[in-house]
Amino acid sequence: MEPKLTSPSVVRELLAGLGAQPLKRLGQNFLVDYNLRERIVAGLEIVPGDRVVEIGPGLGAITQGLIERGGDVHAIEIDRALAAHLRAFFGPRLHLCEADALTVDIGSLLGPSGKLVGNLPYYISTALVAAVLAARPALAVLMLQSEVADRLKAPPGSSERGALTLLREYAADVEPWARANPAQFYPPPKVSSQVIRLVPHVPPVALAWSALRPVVAVAFRYRRKTLARALREGFGLAPAEAAAALEKASIDPQRRGETLTLIEFGRLAAGLGERTEALAGDLGDAPI
Ligand code: SAM
Repeated sequence: MEPKLTSPSVVRELLAGLGAQPLKRLGQNFLVDYNLRERIVAGLEIVPGDRVVEIGPGLGAITQGLIERGGDVHAIEIDRALAAHLRAFFGPRLHLCEADALTVDIGSLLGPSGKLVGNLPYYISTALVAAVLAARPALAVLMLQSEVADRLKAPPGSSERGALTLLREYAADVEPWARANPAQFYPPPKVSSQVIRLVPHVPPVALAWSALRPVVAVAFRYRRKTLARALREGFGLAPAEAAAALEKASIDPQRRGETLTLIEFGRLAAGLGERTEALAGDLGDAPI
């Protein structure tokens, strides 16, 4: 029988065999809890043959559960030693892409109906969540540090709200799926983690995210300022223009960005139209 990759002793033996220490700089905290692994995999509702993209498979704790359920797994791992182990362990049962997940076109890897899973490396979790949301998987189950999970759920008025929250509201519903504690990882991380599930929905605003994004970016770049001021500083609008744009969107100019709903951002972006184009160029290709 194949060794269980969630077993703490198996994980230690494999790392010793590879002559490798878990790398902090790559966020390597390996899942060593079978029940939590099962809960994560159950969230994907896998039917044999389903395409599943995994970010950061590590030693394969989650991967093994995906393959057991008949998933057609495409995993992206940056660490060369771990990639060599995964190839040797899973052979042709796993399609491995040895690369930095931030440089991979996750949308093409998913295809039309792929699902996505990842116990994400903490140091780039925000950028990876944004890339995942933009790629629109059919379902996603992600292990995140609690601070990022809370940001995804933060309601209007919360100081945890940010551009990532708005992108999430635009793209998907978020469901709390499981709590994790440091003892469920080797080595134990210093922060607590949560598993969330993302279920895509039709965007509640009839604009492309690229049209909303500059306004969202400005509102949070100047989050301590009123929206009237943020629009002036962020887009170079004259005071009267900023006031008119906010009035047209029925938004009190004294409010701050973190109090706005996605629908209000939609009204504001629609009213500003091409006034936001200059900043859009500065924002680059990343989704947030
Ligand atoms: N999935 C495994 C588990 O649950 O035990 C490992 C999770 S560990 C928290 C994060 C994994 O992401 C590590 O295997 C690490 O090498 C990998 N990783 C880190 N940065 C990455 C990147 N930029 N692209 C792809 N994988 C990355």
